[in-house]
Amino acid sequence: MGIPVGGGIGGVILLVVILLLNGTFSGGGDSDEPAARNTAPGNLSSCEGKDLAANKDCRFVFYQNSIENFWAAELPRRGKKYTKAPLRVFSNSVNTGCGPATAAVGPFYCPPDKRVYLELGFFQTLETDLGAKGGDFAEAYVVAHEYGHHIQNLYGILDQIKTREGANSDSVRSELQADCLAGIWTNHATTVPTKSGKPLITELSQDDIDRGLDAAASVGDDRIQQKTQGQVTPESFSHGTAEQRIKWFKTGMDSGDLARCDTWSANPL
Ligand SMILES: [Zn+2]
Repeated sequence: MGIPVGGGIGGVILLVVILLLNGTFSGGGDSDEPAARNTAPGNLSSCEGKDLAANKDCRFVFYQNSIENFWAAELPRRGKKYTKAPLRVFSNSVNTGCGPATAAVGPFYCPPDKRVYLELGFFQTLETDLGAKGGDFAEAYVVAHEYGHHIQNLYGILDQIKTREGANSDSVRSELQADCLAGIWTNHATTVPTKSGKPLITELSQDDIDRGLDAAASVGDDRIQQKTQGQVTPESFSHGTAEQRIKWFKTGMDSGDLARCDTWSANPL
């Protein structure tokens, strides 16, 4: 199975493969299944307007709404139409416009069907295996990063990715830009317009932001490679280092300005 273009949150598939070899991972990715099937752990279609306490998984719809409401208002200001990207939550495996995907891929965006796929077990992996502190805003960062790929897709940027490996590859530049776009949403998260007039997220604490930055660092290529192979090999980078991911997330978050997220002409370091 190929990793969908536009990519996930980090080189997590490698980590999961190695954990499988070590026999310490008992999660999804069951290759004995004859065909991928949709196994949404909770019905998130009923989340709209519901209390989060009723179904904790509804928080992902909550993040999605905040993120999409922001971009739906921001892009027209820049003369660009926003089209929605449905959020699909799955466990084990799922069929997508990019082919069947297993839990090993983690969260990802699929450009052909313009959907964001969230594998919920990943958030546990983020904490237990990648050493992130976790928390709600760590999750929101991951969702916002995937929607960043959707924004790139709307601008035709994903079509221009030619080199997929290496510290200066198009892939790394694209991933760092998605981090920057997640930062842009973070900057505006408490002022995102909604029909009710009240923002979905009313307050972001420093702890929230620190958890987002910590999650970004945890999925840096160098961190993941160090954990999985015991060494860092920049020639196989696909998402950027922890330092770069923090830098670009902060660039978006501090400026709130889309124009600052040009990782293509800028030196990504
Ligand atoms: Zn990505």
